[in-house]
Amino acid sequence: MKKEIKWETSKGIATYTVELKLEKEINLDGDIDTVPCCEINTRVTCQGINTYLDSWVSKLNEKIERNGKTYIGKIGQKIVIEQSTYDAIMDAIDAAKNHPAWIAKKEIIKQNEKEIDELSAKRRQNGYCPKCGSYCHGDCQA
Ligand SMILES: [Zn+2]
Repeated sequence: MKKEIKWETSKGIATYTVELKLEKEINLDGDIDTVPCCEINTRVTCQGINTYLDSWVSKLNEKIERNGKTYIGKIGQKIVIEQSTYDAIMDAIDAAKNHPAWIAKKEIIKQNEKEIDELSAKRRQNGYCPKCGSYCHGDCQA
């Protein structure tokens, strides 16, 4: 699943790409192979400007009005965007997060966290002390 949002800037067309990758290429000692994965990748490029690595999208604390446009959001620290661009990017990110593969991955993470929590609770009941990392039953604090 890959979605591109394009908008016009004074320097040219800017493109924000949201990609849910379900497999990726890895290098096995020189042999390229494909393995399953589940990653959401985002990047932003703008004609005439180098690719920005920081593609984190957030709302501006205060909107900026320039040349008849109102900017309400930002990508990284350097690119500001209008509401329509912000909404389109957020829709694309939501679509990736609503993909069954992504939801399944989140479920697995949640289940793992639950099991780790249960295990730590049981260890503490048995006298495990997270401060010294042994079953000291609190003796290290005595
Ligand atoms: Zn201890």
